[in-house]
Amino acid sequence: MKALVYNGPGKKDWVEKPRPVIQEPTDVIVKITKTTICGSDLHILKGDVPTVTEGRTLGHEGVGVVEEIGSAVRNFMKGDPVLISCITSCGSCPNCKRQLYSHCDDGGWQLGHTVDGTQAEYVRIRHGDNSLYPIPDGADEEALVMLSDILPTGLEIGVQAGGVKPGDTLAIVGAGPVGMSALLTAQFYSPSKIVMIDMDPARLALARQFGATDTVQVGSEDAVVKVLEMTDGRGVDVAIEAVGVPATFDICQKIVSAGGKIANVGVHGKPVELHIEHLWIKNINISMGLVNTNTTPMLLKTVRAGKFDPGKLITHRFALNEILDAYEVFGNAAREKAMKVILAA
Ligand SMILES: [Zn+2]
Ligand SMILES: [Zn+2]
Repeated sequence: MKALVYNGPGKKDWVEKPRPVIQEPTDVIVKITKTTICGSDLHILKGDVPTVTEGRTLGHEGVGVVEEIGSAVRNFMKGDPVLISCITSCGSCPNCKRQLYSHCDDGGWQLGHTVDGTQAEYVRIRHGDNSLYPIPDGADEEALVMLSDILPTGLEIGVQAGGVKPGDTLAIVGAGPVGMSALLTAQFYSPSKIVMIDMDPARLALARQFGATDTVQVGSEDAVVKVLEMTDGRGVDVAIEAVGVPATFDICQKIVSAGGKIANVGVHGKPVELHIEHLWIKNINISMGLVNTNTTPMLLKTVRAGKFDPGKLITHRFALNEILDAYEVFGNAAREKAMKVILAA
Protein backbone atom coordinates (compact mmCIF):
# COMPACT_ATOMS: atom_id res chain seq x y z
CA MET A 1 0.00 0.00 0.00
CA LYS A 2 0.97 3.66 -0.24
CA ALA A 3 1.67 5.85 2.80
CA LEU A 4 2.96 9.35 3.60
CA VAL A 5 6.13 8.80 5.58
CA TYR A 6 8.21 11.16 7.75
CA ASN A 7 11.89 10.83 6.87
CA GLY A 8 13.37 13.26 9.38
CA PRO A 9 13.07 17.06 9.67
CA GLY A 10 11.90 18.65 6.41
CA LYS A 11 11.61 15.28 4.64
CA LYS A 12 8.51 13.35 3.68
CA ASP A 13 7.61 10.94 0.90
CA TRP A 14 4.66 9.01 -0.52
CA VAL A 15 6.03 5.50 -0.53
CA GLU A 16 5.13 1.82 -0.86
CA LYS A 17 4.84 0.11 2.55
CA PRO A 18 3.52 -3.26 3.76
CA ARG A 19 -0.18 -3.25 4.65
CA PRO A 20 -0.74 -3.23 8.42
CA VAL A 21 -1.78 -6.52 9.99
CA ILE A 22 -3.56 -7.39 13.25
CA GLN A 23 -0.95 -7.46 16.03
CA GLU A 24 -3.15 -7.39 19.13
CA PRO A 25 -6.61 -8.99 19.53
CA THR A 26 -8.15 -5.52 20.09
CA ASP A 27 -6.81 -4.15 16.75
CA VAL A 28 -8.97 -3.11 13.83
CA ILE A 29 -7.55 -2.63 10.32
CA VAL A 30 -9.33 0.24 8.56
CA LYS A 31 -9.24 0.99 4.83
CA ILE A 32 -9.02 4.78 4.66
CA THR A 33 -11.65 6.51 2.52
CA LYS A 34 -10.97 10.12 3.61
CA THR A 35 -8.21 11.74 5.59
CA THR A 36 -6.70 15.19 6.10
CA ILE A 37 -3.59 17.08 7.22
CA CYS A 38 -3.32 18.76 10.63
CA GLY A 39 -1.14 21.63 11.82
CA SER A 40 0.54 19.06 14.09
CA ASP A 41 1.75 17.18 11.00
CA LEU A 42 3.52 20.37 9.91
CA HIS A 43 5.07 20.66 13.41
CA ILE A 44 6.33 17.08 13.10
CA LEU A 45 7.81 17.78 9.67
CA LYS A 46 9.66 20.79 11.04
CA GLY A 47 11.27 18.43 13.56
CA ASP A 48 9.40 19.95 16.55
CA VAL A 49 8.13 16.55 17.77
CA PRO A 50 11.23 14.38 18.37
CA THR A 51 9.12 11.43 19.58
CA VAL A 52 8.21 10.85 15.93
CA THR A 53 10.87 8.60 14.43
CA GLU A 54 11.95 8.27 10.80
CA GLY A 55 9.76 5.99 8.73
CA ARG A 56 6.57 6.84 10.66
CA THR A 57 3.36 7.17 8.63
CA LEU A 58 1.78 10.51 9.57
CA GLY A 59 -1.89 11.41 10.10
CA HIS A 60 -4.33 11.11 13.01
CA GLU A 61 -7.64 12.03 11.38
CA GLY A 62 -9.91 10.22 8.98
CA VAL A 63 -12.83 7.98 8.15
CA GLY A 64 -12.79 4.56 6.55
CA VAL A 65 -14.25 1.08 6.31
CA VAL A 66 -13.38 -1.82 8.60
CA GLU A 67 -11.23 -4.30 6.67
CA GLU A 68 -10.35 -6.78 9.42
CA ILE A 69 -10.95 -7.15 13.16
CA GLY A 70 -8.93 -8.78 15.93
CA SER A 71 -10.45 -11.67 17.89
CA ALA A 72 -11.40 -9.48 20.90
CA VAL A 73 -13.20 -6.72 18.93
CA ARG A 74 -16.92 -6.67 19.77
CA ASN A 75 -18.30 -3.38 18.42
CA PHE A 76 -17.33 -3.57 14.72
CA MET A 77 -17.47 -5.95 11.78
CA LYS A 78 -15.81 -6.02 8.37
CA GLY A 79 -17.49 -3.47 6.11
CA ASP A 80 -18.60 -1.07 8.87
CA PRO A 81 -17.97 2.63 8.10
CA VAL A 82 -16.02 4.21 10.98
CA LEU A 83 -14.75 7.54 12.26
CA ILE A 84 -11.18 7.35 13.57
CA SER A 85 -10.41 9.27 16.78
CA CYS A 86 -7.01 10.99 17.00
CA ILE A 87 -6.80 9.54 20.52
CA THR A 88 -6.29 5.83 21.10
CA SER A 89 -7.86 4.63 24.35
CA CYS A 90 -8.30 1.23 25.97
CA GLY A 91 -11.46 2.24 27.83
CA SER A 92 -10.56 0.39 31.01
CA CYS A 93 -7.43 1.91 32.64
CA PRO A 94 -7.83 4.41 35.54
CA ASN A 95 -7.49 7.46 33.26
CA CYS A 96 -9.93 6.06 30.69
CA LYS A 97 -12.38 5.36 33.52
CA ARG A 98 -12.49 9.11 34.23
CA GLN A 99 -12.69 9.95 30.50
CA LEU A 100 -9.11 11.25 30.46
CA TYR A 101 -8.58 9.29 27.25
CA SER A 102 -5.67 11.48 26.14
CA HIS A 103 -3.69 9.97 29.02
CA CYS A 104 -4.78 6.34 28.54
CA ASP A 105 -2.13 4.06 30.09
CA ASP A 106 -1.94 2.15 26.79
CA GLY A 107 -2.93 4.87 24.34
CA GLY A 108 -3.26 8.65 24.04
CA TRP A 109 -1.97 10.45 20.96
CA GLN A 110 -0.28 7.54 19.22
CA LEU A 111 -1.63 7.71 15.66
CA GLY A 112 0.84 9.31 13.28
CA HIS A 113 3.07 9.90 16.32
CA THR A 114 4.38 6.66 17.86
CA VAL A 115 2.20 4.32 15.76
CA ASP A 116 1.67 4.50 11.97
CA GLY A 117 -1.14 6.92 11.12
CA THR A 118 -4.00 7.59 8.74
CA GLN A 119 -2.29 9.22 5.74
CA ALA A 120 -2.15 5.84 4.04
CA GLU A 121 -4.42 3.39 2.24
CA TYR A 122 -4.80 1.28 5.41
CA VAL A 123 -4.26 1.94 9.10
CA ARG A 124 -4.11 -0.28 12.19
CA ILE A 125 -6.25 1.16 14.97
CA ARG A 126 -5.28 -0.08 18.42
CA HIS A 127 -8.09 -0.61 20.95
CA GLY A 128 -10.54 -0.38 18.06
CA ASP A 129 -13.70 -0.75 20.19
CA ASN A 130 -12.95 2.48 22.06
CA SER A 131 -10.92 4.41 19.45
CA LEU A 132 -13.41 4.15 16.58
CA TYR A 133 -16.99 5.43 16.24
CA PRO A 134 -19.66 3.98 13.97
CA ILE A 135 -20.72 6.37 11.19
CA PRO A 136 -24.50 6.68 10.95
CA ASP A 137 -26.22 6.00 7.60
CA GLY A 138 -26.38 9.00 5.31
CA ALA A 139 -23.79 11.04 7.20
CA ASP A 140 -21.51 13.42 5.30
CA GLU A 141 -18.19 11.60 5.66
CA GLU A 142 -16.10 14.63 4.68
CA ALA A 143 -17.65 16.69 7.44
CA LEU A 144 -17.05 13.88 9.93
CA VAL A 145 -13.28 13.96 9.28
CA MET A 146 -13.39 17.25 11.23
CA LEU A 147 -14.53 15.22 14.26
CA SER A 148 -11.34 13.14 14.47
CA ASP A 149 -9.41 15.97 16.13
CA ILE A 150 -10.11 19.65 15.48
CA LEU A 151 -13.75 19.92 16.60
CA PRO A 152 -13.37 18.04 19.88
CA THR A 153 -10.10 19.93 20.47
CA GLY A 154 -11.73 23.34 19.96
CA LEU A 155 -14.72 22.33 22.06
CA GLU A 156 -13.05 20.50 24.97
CA ILE A 157 -9.78 22.39 25.40
CA GLY A 158 -11.11 25.78 24.27
CA VAL A 159 -14.83 26.22 24.87
CA GLN A 160 -15.49 23.77 27.71
CA ALA A 161 -12.20 24.37 29.55
CA GLY A 162 -12.96 28.09 29.24
CA GLY A 163 -16.40 27.48 30.73
CA VAL A 164 -18.21 29.54 28.07
CA LYS A 165 -21.72 30.36 29.32
CA PRO A 166 -24.76 32.12 27.82
CA GLY A 167 -24.12 35.85 27.56
CA ASP A 168 -20.35 35.58 27.99
CA THR A 169 -17.90 37.64 26.00
CA LEU A 170 -15.37 35.43 24.25
CA ALA A 171 -12.21 36.14 22.28
CA ILE A 172 -10.45 33.53 20.16
CA VAL A 173 -6.86 34.29 19.20
CA GLY A 174 -6.03 32.42 15.99
CA ALA A 175 -8.46 31.72 13.15
CA GLY A 176 -6.90 28.45 11.99
CA PRO A 177 -8.83 25.15 11.89
CA VAL A 178 -8.84 24.71 15.68
CA GLY A 179 -9.72 28.36 16.38
CA MET A 180 -12.56 28.04 13.87
CA SER A 181 -13.67 24.82 15.58
CA ALA A 182 -13.81 26.71 18.88
CA LEU A 183 -15.83 29.42 17.12
CA LEU A 184 -18.36 26.91 15.75
CA THR A 185 -18.77 24.94 18.98
CA ALA A 186 -18.82 28.02 21.26
CA GLN A 187 -22.16 28.84 19.68
CA PHE A 188 -23.72 25.81 21.43
CA TYR A 189 -23.48 28.00 24.57
CA SER A 190 -24.80 31.33 23.18
CA PRO A 191 -22.02 33.78 24.12
CA SER A 192 -23.08 37.40 23.55
CA LYS A 193 -19.89 38.37 21.79
CA ILE A 194 -17.28 36.32 19.93
CA VAL A 195 -14.23 38.30 18.87
CA MET A 196 -11.92 36.52 16.41
CA ILE A 197 -8.33 37.78 16.35
CA ASP A 198 -5.91 36.90 13.52
CA MET A 199 -3.45 38.44 11.06
CA ASP A 200 -5.13 37.12 7.91
CA PRO A 201 -8.09 39.21 6.62
CA ALA A 202 -9.39 36.26 4.56
CA ARG A 203 -9.61 34.08 7.65
CA LEU A 204 -11.32 36.89 9.58
CA ALA A 205 -13.91 37.23 6.79
CA LEU A 206 -14.55 33.49 7.04
CA ALA A 207 -14.82 33.79 10.82
CA ARG A 208 -17.58 36.39 10.42
CA GLN A 209 -19.46 33.97 8.13
CA PHE A 210 -19.06 31.28 10.80
CA GLY A 211 -20.56 33.45 13.54
CA ALA A 212 -17.87 35.79 14.91
CA THR A 213 -19.58 39.00 16.01
CA ASP A 214 -16.38 41.06 15.81
CA THR A 215 -12.92 40.63 14.31
CA VAL A 216 -9.54 42.21 14.97
CA GLN A 217 -6.74 42.13 12.41
CA VAL A 218 -3.42 41.90 14.23
CA GLY A 219 -0.79 43.88 12.35
CA SER A 220 -3.07 46.73 11.39
CA GLU A 221 -4.92 46.96 14.72
CA ASP A 222 -3.79 46.62 18.34
CA ALA A 223 -5.67 43.56 19.55
CA VAL A 224 -5.54 44.49 23.24
CA VAL A 225 -6.76 48.07 22.71
CA LYS A 226 -9.55 46.92 20.38
CA VAL A 227 -10.85 44.18 22.66
CA LEU A 228 -10.84 46.48 25.69
CA GLU A 229 -12.77 49.08 23.67
CA MET A 230 -15.33 46.47 22.63
CA THR A 231 -15.89 45.39 26.23
CA ASP A 232 -16.15 48.80 27.96
CA GLY A 233 -12.63 48.35 29.29
CA ARG A 234 -13.50 45.14 31.16
CA GLY A 235 -11.91 42.53 28.91
CA VAL A 236 -13.47 39.22 27.92
CA ASP A 237 -14.89 36.50 30.15
CA VAL A 238 -13.04 33.84 28.18
CA ALA A 239 -9.89 34.14 26.04
CA ILE A 240 -9.02 31.10 23.92
CA GLU A 241 -5.45 30.83 22.65
CA ALA A 242 -5.36 28.81 19.40
CA VAL A 243 -1.95 29.56 17.91
CA GLY A 244 0.81 28.41 20.27
CA VAL A 245 3.33 31.26 20.34
CA PRO A 246 4.26 33.63 23.21
CA ALA A 247 2.74 36.72 21.51
CA THR A 248 -0.75 35.23 21.26
CA PHE A 249 -0.70 33.89 24.82
CA ASP A 250 0.33 37.37 25.89
CA ILE A 251 -2.71 38.90 24.15
CA CYS A 252 -4.91 36.51 26.15
CA GLN A 253 -3.32 37.62 29.44
CA LYS A 254 -4.03 41.24 28.60
CA ILE A 255 -7.63 40.90 27.42
CA VAL A 256 -9.01 38.55 30.08
CA SER A 257 -11.39 40.22 32.52
CA ALA A 258 -11.38 39.87 36.29
CA GLY A 259 -12.89 36.47 37.09
CA GLY A 260 -12.16 35.33 33.57
CA LYS A 261 -10.56 32.25 32.04
CA ILE A 262 -7.70 31.72 29.63
CA ALA A 263 -8.05 28.43 27.77
CA ASN A 264 -4.86 27.55 25.95
CA VAL A 265 -5.34 25.24 23.00
CA GLY A 266 -2.21 26.09 21.00
CA VAL A 267 0.77 23.73 20.83
CA HIS A 268 3.70 25.64 22.30
CA GLY A 269 7.36 25.02 21.54
CA LYS A 270 8.78 27.88 23.63
CA PRO A 271 8.18 29.18 27.17
CA VAL A 272 5.76 32.07 27.62
CA GLU A 273 6.06 34.91 30.10
CA LEU A 274 3.33 34.55 32.71
CA HIS A 275 2.35 38.02 33.98
CA ILE A 276 1.42 36.84 37.41
CA GLU A 277 2.23 40.34 38.76
CA HIS A 278 -0.97 41.54 37.01
CA LEU A 279 -3.03 38.37 37.08
CA TRP A 280 -2.63 37.27 40.73
CA ILE A 281 -5.30 39.70 41.91
CA LYS A 282 -7.76 39.12 39.07
CA ASN A 283 -9.26 35.70 39.97
CA ILE A 284 -8.15 34.17 36.69
CA ASN A 285 -8.10 30.51 35.69
CA ILE A 286 -5.68 29.23 33.07
CA SER A 287 -6.17 25.82 31.48
CA MET A 288 -4.34 23.77 28.87
CA GLY A 289 -4.22 20.19 27.65
CA LEU A 290 -4.67 17.53 25.05
CA VAL A 291 -8.08 16.62 23.66
CA ASN A 292 -9.79 13.61 25.28
CA THR A 293 -12.37 13.20 22.49
CA ASN A 294 -14.98 12.43 25.16
CA THR A 295 -17.29 14.85 23.30
CA THR A 296 -17.07 12.96 19.99
CA PRO A 297 -20.36 11.03 20.48
CA MET A 298 -22.18 14.32 21.26
CA LEU A 299 -20.61 16.01 18.22
CA LEU A 300 -21.68 13.10 15.99
CA LYS A 301 -25.27 13.58 17.16
CA THR A 302 -25.28 17.35 16.65
CA VAL A 303 -23.79 17.06 13.14
CA ARG A 304 -26.27 14.34 12.25
CA ALA A 305 -29.14 16.50 13.52
CA GLY A 306 -27.96 19.39 11.32
CA LYS A 307 -27.21 21.67 14.29
CA PHE A 308 -24.05 22.77 12.57
CA ASP A 309 -21.95 21.77 9.57
CA PRO A 310 -18.23 21.24 10.14
CA GLY A 311 -17.91 20.51 6.41
CA LYS A 312 -17.68 24.26 5.83
CA LEU A 313 -14.12 24.16 7.19
CA ILE A 314 -13.07 22.24 4.06
CA THR A 315 -11.55 24.49 1.39
CA HIS A 316 -9.56 22.06 -0.79
CA ARG A 317 -9.99 18.50 -2.04
CA PHE A 318 -7.39 16.09 -3.44
CA ALA A 319 -7.07 12.42 -4.28
CA LEU A 320 -5.12 10.54 -1.61
CA ASN A 321 -2.24 9.93 -4.02
CA GLU A 322 -1.94 13.70 -4.56
CA ILE A 323 -1.04 14.12 -0.89
CA LEU A 324 2.30 15.82 -1.58
CA ASP A 325 0.41 18.56 -3.49
CA ALA A 326 -2.05 18.80 -0.60
CA TYR A 327 0.85 19.35 1.83
CA GLU A 328 2.12 22.13 -0.43
CA VAL A 329 -1.26 23.88 -0.28
CA PHE A 330 -1.86 23.31 3.46
CA GLY A 331 1.71 24.36 4.27
CA ASN A 332 1.06 27.69 2.52
CA ALA A 333 -2.40 28.19 3.98
CA ALA A 334 -2.47 32.00 3.87
CA ARG A 335 -1.35 32.19 0.24
CA GLU A 336 -3.70 29.37 -0.81
CA LYS A 337 -6.61 30.51 1.39
CA ALA A 338 -6.65 26.99 2.83
CA MET A 339 -8.42 25.91 6.02
CA LYS A 340 -8.82 22.12 5.87
CA VAL A 341 -7.97 19.84 2.95
CA ILE A 342 -9.68 16.51 2.27
CA LEU A 343 -7.82 13.59 0.73
CA ALA A 344 -10.14 10.98 -0.74
CA ALA A 345 -9.04 7.42 -1.55
ZN1 LIG B 1 -4.32 17.24 14.81
ZN1 LIG C 1 -6.93 3.50 28.87
